[in-house]
Amino acid sequence: MTTQPDRAAWLQGLSAQCSPAPASATPPWRLVLLGAPGVGKGTQAQLLHQHLGACHLSTGDVFRAASARKDCVPSPAMTAALEFMRRGALVPDRTVWEMVCERTGCLRCAGGFLLDGFPRTLSQAESLGQLLQKENLPLNAVINYELPLPEIVSRLSGRRTCSKCKAVFHITNQPPRSENICDHCGALLFQREDDRTESIKVRLQAYNQSTAPLIDFYSAKGLLLSIPATGSPEDISNRTLYALALRAPLPIFS
Ligand code: AMP
Repeated sequence: MTTQPDRAAWLQGLSAQCSPAPASATPPWRLVLLGAPGVGKGTQAQLLHQHLGACHLSTGDVFRAASARKDCVPSPAMTAALEFMRRGALVPDRTVWEMVCERTGCLRCAGGFLLDGFPRTLSQAESLGQLLQKENLPLNAVINYELPLPEIVSRLSGRRTCSKCKAVFHITNQPPRSENICDHCGALLFQREDDRTESIKVRLQAYNQSTAPLIDFYSAKGLLLSIPATGSPEDISNRTLYALALRAPLPIFS
């Protein structure tokens, strides 16, 4: 099993170094994970990391890390971005793209990458395509996780996250042993502000309007793999690895 690097370069910018340094992979996997909020892209990214070695790069995690930092004042663009995030709305393309460009080194990483939550608009997908072409970093596939709407709403509204170790629970599907207390570190669980009912509506609208069109965009490029996101995280991960193995017969089952 591979330990996930702390992703410091991605979360804090390239002046920070990941610890441990990401292991190089031959060839490295470069994947985009698509799917509505709540389908479990983050969990799948962690499981895929264990099998493929590629690093989990989530743009939402960058924004959350910026909002949690107490040692520096966020830029005006970041302050505005965090307000969009709080409401469940998409952060403007320009802000997201500047943030990703500052982290191009993470895309070049010899360990590969699993992009989660980016791109989320056609404009972001086109910019990413141009950058990856310029850098000669072709994508292996775009994985689209599919789940019926009622299940998405139930997963998001019941999700609780540990305030310390960030472990994720669900009030009915995966409840903690003691109510509102993390099984792993004993810290309090909280509900992400953007998992509240009002924000969920806004996020799903943003997904339908801006992100769903990426399914056709990547399908037309022959990159799309659609995976049902029902069942246990391990079931979904196995389905994903199987689909990847059929697409590119590489020794990925570790
Ligand atoms: P996530 O953790 O991926 O659900 O992202 C949380 C929030 O961060 C989203 O609801 C958006 O407000 C913001 N965000 C993350 N990634 C992007 C992106 N690529 N484009 C626009 N907004 C984003």
